[in-house]
Amino acid sequence: SPRIFSGMQPTSDSLHLGNYLGALTQWVALQDAYDALYCVVDLHALTVSPDPVQLRERTRRTAAQYLAAGVDPERSILFVQSHVAEHAELSWLLSCQTGFGEAGRMTQFKDKSAKHGAEGTTVGLFTYPILMAADILLYDTALVPVGEDQRQHLELTRDLAERLNKRFGDGTAVVPDAHIVKATAKIYDLQDPTAKMSKSAASPNGIIELLDPPKTVAKRIRSAVTDTGSEIRFDRENQPGIANLLTIYSALTGREVDAIVADYAGKGYGHLKVDLADVVVEFLAPFQERVDGYLSDPASLDAVLEDGAERARAIARATLDRVADRFGLLPRR
Ligand code: ATP
Ligand code: MG
Repeated sequence: SPRIFSGMQPTSDSLHLGNYLGALTQWVALQDAYDALYCVVDLHALTVSPDPVQLRERTRRTAAQYLAAGVDPERSILFVQSHVAEHAELSWLLSCQTGFGEAGRMTQFKDKSAKHGAEGTTVGLFTYPILMAADILLYDTALVPVGEDQRQHLELTRDLAERLNKRFGDGTAVVPDAHIVKATAKIYDLQDPTAKMSKSAASPNGIIELLDPPKTVAKRIRSAVTDTGSEIRFDRENQPGIANLLTIYSALTGREVDAIVADYAGKGYGHLKVDLADVVVEFLAPFQERVDGYLSDPASLDAVLEDGAERARAIARATLDRVADRFGLLPRR
């Protein structure tokens, strides 16, 4: 069956609800219909110079959260990016096919480099989207389930794939499609409902981390910034705070937004927040238990990742050999 690839960065102790609703739930849903590879992209995390001890810990924690969400290593390949050296190799080949100006147009780089300052901004942060293109093209990926913020990087990946096919002949690369589910493609920060919820957000108060204590989560939801007015309606433009809460409510309960809005007719924002806090906590409690289970047995977790890396490597090597040959590199013996 056609192939899926996606990944998350181990840039935090916990994934957040945006990662979960925007991407992870899609991963789980798609793993039957596709040949899926799900990766903890530790090389991407290196772009922001993490502490080594913390990075290792966060890599395992991220993998544990994939498993707790329902990624099944029997049906999908679950692995760590740095265990498959071909990601870095293909990234170099693609770097040499990417225009400097083209790479410079990536808006995420502009945002992140503004945050890190001139000295804190690494070359790796600049070339990040090229490594991401390598991640995807390495597996002849057909579909990439991601959040809205990755749309531009996916476009670059598609452009690169098309360029390779034009320069080196059809069949050099598979041109992937993004899989972005509109309703949950962008979950917003609770304190700033015009900004996306991010692991690297300025204040932790706007984030719902999957591994936060339930009390903290409930408190953050109750103190979410909401809009002037008091009527509960789904209006992204004028009531972005409430729209965000309704989106989360709907995604976690599987109920239509309209039905939820009808339930709250004549009720205030406070009601919605209190009930949503309950919904989120109810979801998090069993999730956190499963994560604890995986983390309490690091040897088994590492074995899963090792097995995944081996399976991923076999696919990656074949693709890289094909592409390198097209580029004119002398075949390896
Ligand atoms: P960082 O701030 O370190 O970049 P992040 O929160 O953006 O962290 P990533 O690891 O970069 O997380 O992204 C993992 C996946 O989660 C990607 O598919 C991304 O599109 C998706 N994602 C991230 N934030 C959101 C969000 N707020 N809403 C929906 N999807 C999101
Ligand atoms: Mg990100």
